[in-house]
Amino acid sequence: MAVNTMIPVARPWMDEQEAGAARRAILSGWVTQGPEVAAFEREFAEAIGTAHACAVSSCTTALHAALVALGVGAGDEVITVSHSFIATTNAIRYCGAMPVFVDIDPVTFNIDPALVEAAISPRTKAILAVHQLGMPCDLASLVSIATRHGVPLIEDAACAIGSEIEWHGAWQRIGRPHGDIACFSFHPRKIVTTGEGGAVTTDEAALDAAVRRIRHHGWATLGDMPAPGFNYRLPDLLCAIGIPQMARLEELLAARERVAGWYTERLEHHVLTPSAADGDRHGWQAYVVQLDRRDEALAALRDAGIEAQIGTWALHRLEPYRAQGAFPGADRAFERALALPLATTTTEEEVERVAAVLTGL
Ligand SMILES: *Cc1c(COP(=O)(O)O)cnc(C)c1O
Repeated sequence: MAVNTMIPVARPWMDEQEAGAARRAILSGWVTQGPEVAAFEREFAEAIGTAHACAVSSCTTALHAALVALGVGAGDEVITVSHSFIATTNAIRYCGAMPVFVDIDPVTFNIDPALVEAAISPRTKAILAVHQLGMPCDLASLVSIATRHGVPLIEDAACAIGSEIEWHGAWQRIGRPHGDIACFSFHPRKIVTTGEGGAVTTDEAALDAAVRRIRHHGWATLGDMPAPGFNYRLPDLLCAIGIPQMARLEELLAARERVAGWYTERLEHHVLTPSAADGDRHGWQAYVVQLDRRDEALAALRDAGIEAQIGTWALHRLEPYRAQGAFPGADRAFERALALPLATTTTEEEVERVAAVLTGL
């Protein structure tokens, strides 16, 4: 019976086009760093509107490469949010640096720029802001603070492929970048996927060159290795799959926007529903509602065959960070957030089933 079929929290969308692209890469004989990497990087940079895009193995490695490229090292501090996916802070720790948390706005889940300034110290080497779940954070304020203090701004845009803001009167995609450097994810749980993968975008040629060196063991030119790098390459095989995925970006975004609209219509008077700031375009990596009886709702959805998730975490509650103090915004978000099923192929009937459980609690 259709009513008993499981509704998954996410479902990547790939078809014959991606299969054909993988086949083309396999039969080309290149398989790793070949023409598909360069073609995918060109497509990606053009779609985002940035000068350079460097494909890497994940957003986690993208964040690490960006931090290393900006010179973040042992003993440095990087300002970031106390509520995110764990990869955001892990990347800072890979450098031997310490994440210094600032609280989030409990409604938007995004960094509160008013708190960033107070967290800046002589050891601050970068600000790592997150466009949480695809909702653009307040970049105008962050860029202004970063510029005033001469601290680089990194954007964790893992979930924000296709998210847009109005910037000096024009629509611009996130990752242009408005900060110094931005990092994207192509994990199947995100909007565009290559299985696993990521990208680093920047307008600065020197930063792009540094990221490319770090991606490939640290080689500058053959026989010259200024500092050891890593193997963070994304192979031709996966970049080939990314090309048709990027070609359908608008289609993927429109489908997600439609599903989000169905949820909002049915739920806005029952729970706190998400929406981007006026003038911004949400990428809808996830549709996360907030409600008081979250754990009860999660159990009721699971009983009804609906996969929901908590997803993001209050990182200051983890062992290495407990001394950093209280973050009431992050606590509130962590206790009340619930990610509902959202995929390109989610149907209105599925949304109806989810809404029926939540409104019937
Ligand atoms: C998913 C995610 C990451 C990690 O992306 P991977 O490609 O899986 O490494 C980093 N930051 C945020 C905010 C994310 O949501």
